[in-house]
Amino acid sequence: MYCDLHTHSTASDGTDAPGDLPMLAKQAGLSAIALTDHDTTDGLAEFLAAAKIARIRAVPGIELSADPAILHADTDPSPDQPPRLGTLHLLGYFIQPEAPLLAEVQAHLREARAQRNPQMIARLNELGMDIHYDEVIQIAGGNIVGRPHIGQVLMQKGYVKSIHEAFSRYLGGRGEAYVRKDRLSAEQAIQAIHDADGLAVLAHPTQLGLESASQLEHAVARLKTLGLDGMETRHSDHHPRDTERFSKLATKLNLLTTGGSDYHGSRKTLALGCQKVPLSVYEDLLESHRQRIGG
Ligand code: AMP
Ligand code: ZN
Ligand code: FE
Ligand code: FE
Repeated sequence: MYCDLHTHSTASDGTDAPGDLPMLAKQAGLSAIALTDHDTTDGLAEFLAAAKIARIRAVPGIELSADPAILHADTDPSPDQPPRLGTLHLLGYFIQPEAPLLAEVQAHLREARAQRNPQMIARLNELGMDIHYDEVIQIAGGNIVGRPHIGQVLMQKGYVKSIHEAFSRYLGGRGEAYVRKDRLSAEQAIQAIHDADGLAVLAHPTQLGLESASQLEHAVARLKTLGLDGMETRHSDHHPRDTERFSKLATKLNLLTTGGSDYHGSRKTLALGCQKVPLSVYEDLLESHRQRIGG
């Protein structure tokens, strides 16, 4: 029996409605699924209602984007050569969708997107591409407008052949139109997840872009001092070698482990459930959550 604890819906940048995911998960042979949309709980009510009908175990979740700078603070003292920052995403599991602090954080992150997205569009315009923010908002459909939506417009207009090319040329960390949007500290993200009764888990640790094992251990240990509960060991970006070393680190630091596909529907080629995460991972997470809210 398997689960998938990392998925996205149309409430952020996936292509399946939150209400369709439980049945799709069931059809993929899964016994439990978490919805972890970027920076929003908008899809959770629909997702949980559909999961009841589909009779599948469901986890209300979120994936918050946070500022990775603190993880580099002690490793590169040179102001002339700031470290190349990776991506810090924190997953929240078993959250109360309406929790007030988490609602504040979501509003703050929407504001960060509202400032960053038009800057990226302006850069694309400077590069000679005819693309308007309104077109991107229309594709996004919901409250969360992100780079995959910009990528889709670029593709539809023939400026790139794939979303992948859109990221490697323009939208990715080294792309010509990239603008950072780190507004939330890791501490604030973890606090907001805990305030919503959730468990905080470091998503896809490879995306931190930390080169050495000791840098990674230092970073995760630091997050643990801020209250981190677990780390994602199985993920579609991870080589089996990564999963193994992250599991060892989790054991060493006494952290829970989780896993998922990072399914985005047709915006990515990954299948729901492709990470073959054992259902026991879900059960351990549930038990930790019970202990947390019980005590
Ligand atoms: P944003 O939240 O606007 O910064 O966009 C983040 C989204 O872009 C996440 O769903 C990522 O999976 C996706 N993403 C990041 N890098 C790439 C890439 N190289 N190719 C495709 N999608 C990517
Ligand atoms: Zn996404
Ligand atoms: Fe992520
Ligand atoms: Fe994700």
